[in-house]
Amino acid sequence: MNSNIRVFKFGGASLKDVDGVKNVASILHKYVHEELLIVVSAMGKITNALEEVVMAHAKQTGKANELLHQVKQFHFDLAEALLGKDEELAASLNDTFVEVDWVLEEAPHPHYDYMYDQIVSIGELVSSKIVAAYLNKVGLGTYWLDARDVIATDNLYREAWVKWPETMQNTREKALPHIKKGQFVLTQGFIGSTSENFTTTLGRDGSDYTAAIFTYCLDAKDMTIWKDVPGVLTADPRLFENVTKLDRLSYREAIELTYYGAKVIHPKTIKPLQNKSIPLYVKSFLEPESEGTLVSGQTEDKYPPLVAVEKNQAVLSISTRDFSFVAEHHISFLFNKIADFRLQVNMMQNTAISFAICVNNIDDKIHQFAKNIEKEFSVLIDEGLELYTIRYYNQPTISSLLDGKMVMLEERTPNTMQVVLRDVPVMKRKAEVIAHK
Ligand code: ADP
Ligand code: ASP
Ligand code: MG
Repeated sequence: MNSNIRVFKFGGASLKDVDGVKNVASILHKYVHEELLIVVSAMGKITNALEEVVMAHAKQTGKANELLHQVKQFHFDLAEALLGKDEELAASLNDTFVEVDWVLEEAPHPHYDYMYDQIVSIGELVSSKIVAAYLNKVGLGTYWLDARDVIATDNLYREAWVKWPETMQNTREKALPHIKKGQFVLTQGFIGSTSENFTTTLGRDGSDYTAAIFTYCLDAKDMTIWKDVPGVLTADPRLFENVTKLDRLSYREAIELTYYGAKVIHPKTIKPLQNKSIPLYVKSFLEPESEGTLVSGQTEDKYPPLVAVEKNQAVLSISTRDFSFVAEHHISFLFNKIADFRLQVNMMQNTAISFAICVNNIDDKIHQFAKNIEKEFSVLIDEGLELYTIRYYNQPTISSLLDGKMVMLEERTPNTMQVVLRDVPVMKRKAEVIAHK
């Protein structure tokens, strides 16, 4: 660390309405004398709404324009409530929306993921324009930076990879000078750009990762993500009762937990920070003065049981058609296919004649995969499953989590237990043991 720069990230939950934006501004007022780069994502659930626009256009349901209209209306109403009649902002928002109008006028682009990125990325653009205009209005001098001029990526649309050397140089040239002028620099999470200037996205919930990229490239002092929870908890409070906050968490623990579904931090966020030993604070935008969680290189030697839940899982049980044993060459063939179809494997298990994998069930990928290998392998697909990862498990925790559930796959190491379970109705479960120390 060789600077005093701090990086803040505000996500959709903090920017979901007029009061949300005002609250963010009131937090930022306390940092007016600091060197600050601020990353914002789309407001509320706007990314989901834009995904529906993409789908409606792809399927030509005739609803795309109406769905987009609702997104526009939400932003224009919010902008007006915050800033009154602001012609300049309205024109700027229009410039962004009109790009999507043009996409919708054309036939759906054959490359779905490319089209997705061109449409969905506008959520971040309009959000950041409104927030920057509001901060300037309330006296917080803010420079609006287009993240696509900085975050250089390959063209793997919807999951683009960052080109670090270019991004580093762009950060120094395009963000740093404005920070040094004493302005807040405000930019978008989640989005980047190819060398041909096509917009890309970094994967759902990727704004935390964007903040980490800037933090790394700026050699910042620390990074803070402002959430609707007091910090990192022992489990998702939306799913479990009696969760407790962790005051400290090691980078390693944070990577493990977030990789397996603890949605509070995007999994790619931690590594760049760990590489430069930059601390990450997870704090509540509802109680900005409270301490939150510090994620750093200091390891705690003892953690309570920590639970992460990944929904939308599928188990694929793959067996050879000729009942031969599943041998190395089969596995090698299968893994090449898994890579081709970009399936994320969360667990695997093999027996003599079958090989089972638990993967994220996204779009129609698993069915396409099964079809592709059907000549050599038969594939049994089980959908609608959940993957529970329990770090530092103990018997009471296991019993309370698994009670009455059907276990499809299970694996234990000394620290971690993973189980794939059949989906259960959404209900709060009494899992007091999660708070067990
Ligand atoms: P944003 O998009 O506003 O940045 P997210 O909704 O992506 O924020 O992340 C915050 C949410 O993460 C919380 O509301 C909570 O439901 C969920 N979550 C999942 N696991 C955890 C955990 N271990 N600790 C805290 N929150 C968690
Ligand atoms: N707006 C994007 C999403 O909802 C990115 C983010 O919020 O981090 O996935
Ligand atoms: Mg999010």
